[in-house]
Amino acid sequence: MSKVQCVRGTYDSYGAAKRKMKKVVAEASTVVEKYGFEEIETPIFEFTEVFARNLGDTSDIVTKEMYCFNDKGGESLTLRPEGTAGVVRAFVSNGMQQNLPVKLYYAGPMFRYERPQKGRQRQFTQFGVELLGVETPQADIEVIAMAYEFLEKLGLNGQVTVEINSLGDAESREAYRTKLVSYLKEHYDELSEDSKDRLERNPLRVLDSKEECDKTVVENAPLYADSLNQASKEFFAKVLRGLDLLGIKYRINNRLVRGLDYYSHTVFELTTDKLGAQGTVLAGGRYNGLVAQMGGGEVAGIGWACGVERLAMLLDEDIELPRPVAVIPLGDDAEDKALEIAAMLRRAGLRVEQAYSGNMKKRMAKACKANARKAVIIGSEELANAEAAVKDLDSGEQKNVKFNRLIEELTA
Ligand code: ATP
Ligand code: MG
Repeated sequence: MSKVQCVRGTYDSYGAAKRKMKKVVAEASTVVEKYGFEEIETPIFEFTEVFARNLGDTSDIVTKEMYCFNDKGGESLTLRPEGTAGVVRAFVSNGMQQNLPVKLYYAGPMFRYERPQKGRQRQFTQFGVELLGVETPQADIEVIAMAYEFLEKLGLNGQVTVEINSLGDAESREAYRTKLVSYLKEHYDELSEDSKDRLERNPLRVLDSKEECDKTVVENAPLYADSLNQASKEFFAKVLRGLDLLGIKYRINNRLVRGLDYYSHTVFELTTDKLGAQGTVLAGGRYNGLVAQMGGGEVAGIGWACGVERLAMLLDEDIELPRPVAVIPLGDDAEDKALEIAAMLRRAGLRVEQAYSGNMKKRMAKACKANARKAVIIGSEELANAEAAVKDLDSGEQKNVKFNRLIEELTA
C-alpha cells in the first residue's frame, strides 16, 4: 500500500516524452480538422455491456483485458479499452443520426490488462476518428488518406506500410468462415490450444494468432479474396483505386483481419518494423453493423485509432520549446519593476523566466540552465533611466534598451 510507485503497466508522462506525445495529438487534430472532424470527449468508464456486447464476447479485449468493477451502487462498469464503442454509444444516446454524416475524433487514455512490454502498457493513449453515415468507398479512401497525411506530417511516412484487406459484406464473411472452418478442422491437431478454442467460438481470430504453430497452419489457409462476392469485390476495388489516385502506397494483406467483431469490408493497419513485436501504430476499418447493434438504426461507420505512445517513440528528434527570456532584477529596488516587465513581456506572447532569487551570478546561472536566449537585467542605474540591460546569452553582447522598446527588441 505504501509503495511510492505507479501501478505495473502505467507510467508518468513528462519532459521530452510528453512533448512528443503532445506533438502527435496536435498534428493529428490539425490534419483531421481539415477534413471536418470535430472533437468528442466521452466518459472514461461506461456500462460494461457497452464493450462486452459490442466488441464481441470472444475478442481478446473482452475475454482477458478489460478493467471491470462494480461501483458502490452495484453497477458493473468498465474502464474503456478502446474508443469506438463509447463514441458510437454517444452517437446513439445523443440522437446524432438526425444530421449525417457525423465526423468525430477523440484522444485520451485507454485501459487494457495485458502483459506490459515496450510499446504495450495497461494505460495508454489513443487518438482516433469515426466517420458515421457514409456507405460509399469515398469514406474509406478519405479516412485512410487522413491517416497517411497525419503520419506524413510526423515525418514517418517513409517508415510505415499501409496494409489493407477486405472482409466483405455479411454474405462474403459467412462464405469465408465456412471455408476456413473446414480447412482448420483438417489441421486441428497442429493448432495451439487457444486456437482450438477459437475454432469453436470465432474461427476468424485464428488468422490473427501470434503463435508459431498457428502461423504455419494459417499460411496455407483459404484466401479471403476468393470468398468475396461481386459487390464486395467492386467496393474494395474502388477503395484501392482511390488510394492509387492519391498516390498512397499500400500492400494487400490477405491475412489481415481485425481483432474485434464489428468489422466488415475495408480493414487496414499502418505498421512499422521499428518497434519489434509492437509494430502496429494505427489500425481501423469499416463497422457497418455497429450502430444498429446499439439500437441506433442502420448507419454505416468507419474509423481508425492510433497508439500515441508508439508513434511518439518513433519520433527521433527532441521537440524544442521556444527559448525563454530571463528577467533579472539586481537589488530590492528593481524587484517590482522586474515583476512588471515580466508580465508585460508575457502579455506580448514571450516565454519569460524569472530567476526567482539569489545574487546576480546565481540568477544568471539559472537563466542559462533554463536555456534562456536573452537576459533582461534591471539594476538601480537602469531603473533610474527607465531602461534595462539586454544581454544575448549566446554571444555575450549587451546593450541598454528603454523599457518601452523592450517588446520590440525581444520579438525582433
Ligand atoms: P496489438 O495487436 O498490438 O495488441 P490491437 O489490435 O490490440 O494491437 P487496437 O485495438 O487496434 O490494437 O488499437 C489501435 C492501436 O492502439 C494499436 O495499433 C496500438 O498502436 C495501440 N495500442 C493497442 N494496445 C496498446 C497497449 N496496450 N499499449 C500501447 N498501445 C496500444
Ligand atoms: Mg491487443
